[in-house]
Amino acid sequence: MTSQSIAALVESANQLYRDYDFTSVKEWKARTGGLAIGFMPIYVPRELLHAQGCLPVGVMGGGDDLEIIRGDAYYQSYICHIPRSTIELGLGGKLDCLDGMLFPAICDVIRNLSGMWKLEFPGKLSRYLDVPQDFEDDMGGVFYRAELEELSADLARRGARPYDAEALRTSIAVYNRLSALVRELYQLRRDEPWLVPTAELYCLLRAATIWPVEDAILHLETYRDLVRADASRQPMDQARVILAGSFCEQPPLGLIKTLERSGCYIVDDDFVQVHRWLVQPVSTAGDPLDALVSAFLHHAMDSPTRYCGEATKGVELVQRVAAAAAEGVLLCAPSFCDPALLDQPMAVDALEAAGVPWTAFKYAENNGQFQVIREQAGTFADSIKLWSGV
Ligand code: SF4
Repeated sequence: MTSQSIAALVESANQLYRDYDFTSVKEWKARTGGLAIGFMPIYVPRELLHAQGCLPVGVMGGGDDLEIIRGDAYYQSYICHIPRSTIELGLGGKLDCLDGMLFPAICDVIRNLSGMWKLEFPGKLSRYLDVPQDFEDDMGGVFYRAELEELSADLARRGARPYDAEALRTSIAVYNRLSALVRELYQLRRDEPWLVPTAELYCLLRAATIWPVEDAILHLETYRDLVRADASRQPMDQARVILAGSFCEQPPLGLIKTLERSGCYIVDDDFVQVHRWLVQPVSTAGDPLDALVSAFLHHAMDSPTRYCGEATKGVELVQRVAAAAAEGVLLCAPSFCDPALLDQPMAVDALEAAGVPWTAFKYAENNGQFQVIREQAGTFADSIKLWSGV
């Protein structure tokens, strides 16, 4: 019974995030009359949208379900896949239910996509959400606060509720709850990975970018309680690995299943980072916009898309290996992803200096064949089991 309930919940999440007609978003709009605002990976301040009565909607590419016809005409063949599928969704009318799109500053490809969006969809709100790479309060902080104020004013001009500090405080508390739950599930997976298969967690994380946040919290709590109670989930002799590099274009679900079937427990990953980007709860005291700014400046994840100052690239990955008691790292980046692939040599240096086994491969969101990756990951997992610590 418990297993069936888990399967039904995960399947509904899977169906939801793969519904490129965004039926649930249309229903939400019909029910509430609010604005739905799409956002691309990695991070946007969903709290601000929620406080103004908007539904943040994760637009994370077209996965392996979407045939790209017009999208390829907009990008060179050596560019990653997510911008083509996003523009394909837009030109195909799939995103018409969205009142706007936010393009967080993560790479040149997304910057260019935001420009194309303005040209193709002039009637919609389209914002390139610039973020500071200077983390001083009186420099990057001032800049980022102005960005958020502009975004808030843009939303209000489009019909969203005007900014209200008390409403933002409430929204921050709600999103803090979602973040805490996601972290709890990540910790549960680190502790007992057989309870939380990554293929299941991934579906829930994807759906949680589309569900209204209150529903996302309920579904994640239900999942947590169900897996804890499922006595049929027992440990297996799998290698504990971290999957690093999949922070923007998301891998197809089949790839994650393949890795798990090849003998890997994925005990940490970079998927759907919007839920975990802020590594501490955002303060609900004082000015809430300042609290969002401060959280971004001082409590954001390390990422190849973020300037790391005096820190050494790769060190954070080694720390994650220790925290997750991982036995190896799979460097798993989208093909042609500059931020991920430019950081990879530094990550490899740090892993080798720390004696952490690793292997690397690339994917596109629409990959359908995984045999080669299965053999590579399976051999990697076997080698860890046979020779690690010898
Ligand atoms: S997959 Fe990489 S290169 Fe492509 S849009 Fe995302 S961050 Fe940029």
